[in-house]
Amino acid sequence: MSTIQATGSHVGPSVPVLPDGLALKYVAEGAANVIWRISFPDRQLTPPPTVIEESSGPTPPPSEVDIGTDIGIHTGKENGSTKTNGADATATATTTDYSNLLLRLRKCLPSSESNLLAYEYLSSVIMPLFPPGVMVGQELAKLPPKLVERANDTLHHLEKSGVRPAHRQHLYLAGDSRPSEQQMEEGYAFLLEDMTPNTSIGEFLLEFKAKWLVQSPNAPNDWKRCRTCALRLRKYSKSIKKGKHAEWRGICPFDLASDDQKRAKNAVRWILQHPRCENEKLVNRVTAALMGCPQLSILKDLQASLDPKGILGADHKSKEFLTAMTLRDCTFYVKVSPTDVQARLGDFDVKSGEAGKSEYWIETERELINEGWYAGTEEGDYPWKAEGLEVVCRV
Ligand SMILES: [Zn+2]
Repeated sequence: MSTIQATGSHVGPSVPVLPDGLALKYVAEGAANVIWRISFPDRQLTPPPTVIEESSGPTPPPSEVDIGTDIGIHTGKENGSTKTNGADATATATTTDYSNLLLRLRKCLPSSESNLLAYEYLSSVIMPLFPPGVMVGQELAKLPPKLVERANDTLHHLEKSGVRPAHRQHLYLAGDSRPSEQQMEEGYAFLLEDMTPNTSIGEFLLEFKAKWLVQSPNAPNDWKRCRTCALRLRKYSKSIKKGKHAEWRGICPFDLASDDQKRAKNAVRWILQHPRCENEKLVNRVTAALMGCPQLSILKDLQASLDPKGILGADHKSKEFLTAMTLRDCTFYVKVSPTDVQARLGDFDVKSGEAGKSEYWIETERELINEGWYAGTEEGDYPWKAEGLEVVCRV
């Protein structure tokens, strides 16, 4: 039985409008979005928008959000309905505290979907799957007329002064109506729970993907490796044949999601990386937090229930299967402070089998099976063939 219920659109006239005078500060950007810190210039001392805190890197992270009631950041089953009523949205939005929120603006990337569609997918398909506090809080907001123009001016300025990362240059934000700018319509933005760690008090952020927490239903009965470890070894093999460097060791999702503390610690050491993984107290603390967090078991159950047939048996157009693929690719954001560990899930990109993706999934799965990557019978002289280094996964 389907565990996903289409709950329809949650985007209506109640979406709050951002105030026009918000100060924007560039934080980071990815291929499809730019992240900004926002504030009221007359209420808070805000550095000029050309000051860059981080010029590249991942989407900054969320922290516990305790915000006003007008723009609600939804982390779970509240399911996307905002509390602000449309008529006075602008007025009430100005009373919102933006200090714990980040603004995500979309770039003019033809392959990306509109923020409205992305939010409709999140609020109708993904959010209902999780209880509150499990996902990175995110909410849709309407853009005021000149905000994207100002943000694009800042991007141009950052580019001229050589601060914008070179590989990100010449692509600007959607929703700028000026004829001189790249044109793509966009009337909405995302407000995100800010997970940025406060490094001055010793906080740091871990980011990782837990990938396939249950075995692929298509793996052979005599499998020795989980889907994620099998795929990593196959990727290693392909990379070194091309003369490229690759890492063949890494997180085993089965270890991470096991109830065995020793195995979970092994996975956590990979997540912490050197030199943090040498700190046994820290390893223990993060391991206990992840073993106790709801995310791993929820993801594991959903991956199993939404895709019982696997890539080779599933209908690639079914919402359940595509959601399972999304849940195999979402990201953990874990903020570690000296006294607390806080985990959130994010990066729920809509998956589609189109544009050759379906064929790619099938080809990959067949290769993993036929070349023996699951069973551990692959041909070749690899480092893991040495005694004591074998890659063997357990449920
Ligand atoms: Zn594994």
